[in-house]
Order: sequence, then C-alpha cells, then structure tokens
Amino acid sequence: MSKQVFITRCNCGLTAPLKTSWTDANPGRRFFGCAKYDGKANQCGFFEWFDPRTCPRGMEVGPHLMKKNKVLQSELDLQKHTVKVLKVMLGASWVALIVVGVLLFSTPK
Ligand SMILES: [Zn+2]
Repeated sequence: MSKQVFITRCNCGLTAPLKTSWTDANPGRRFFGCAKYDGKANQCGFFEWFDPRTCPRGMEVGPHLMKKNKVLQSELDLQKHTVKVLKVMLGASWVALIVVGVLLFSTPK
C-alpha cells in the first residue's frame, strides 16, 4: 500500500494544510485552507474541498454523532477531574493516617 501525498499551495505561496470541517453542514469533510488562517485578516482566503460532499445519510447522522461525541467528551473530562481530586484526597488521607500513627506510637506510656 502506498500513501498518497497531496500538496496544495494557497495564494500566499505556502503549503495549505489539510483541515477538517466540524460544521453541521459538512461534518468531518476535509478541506485545504490558507496556511495563515487563524481567524485574523492577514490570510489570502484560499479554500478548496478535499473530500466530496457527504451522502444524504451522512448529512443526517453526522451532526447527531458529533453532538453525542461532544457530550461524551465533556463527561470524560469531568470524570478525569474527579479522578484527580480523589487521588489528592487519597494522598492526604495517607498522610493523615501516618501522622496519627506516629503520634499514637510516640506518646510516652
Ligand atoms: Zn494564504
């Protein structure tokens, strides 16, 4: 198997990066855009689709899957944060346990 390489240049003369659209109208559809595009005005405005238009079923299902993915990603981020908090609490409880143990066994009888 050989991997095809596509090099397209924007009107600035730079290699146009291959990007992916995540809009409802073109979910997952790849395109070439200006290398300088960052939402500011100094770009040339170059734009060219790489993938053909998605089929009607893809247009119907794609946005739904993207919304579901966003919900799952935010749930995953929340779970990761919870795990971090629990690890800190576990560490603190071990420190507290050791301090209590040292105090108990170091007290003169
Ligand atoms: Zn450009």
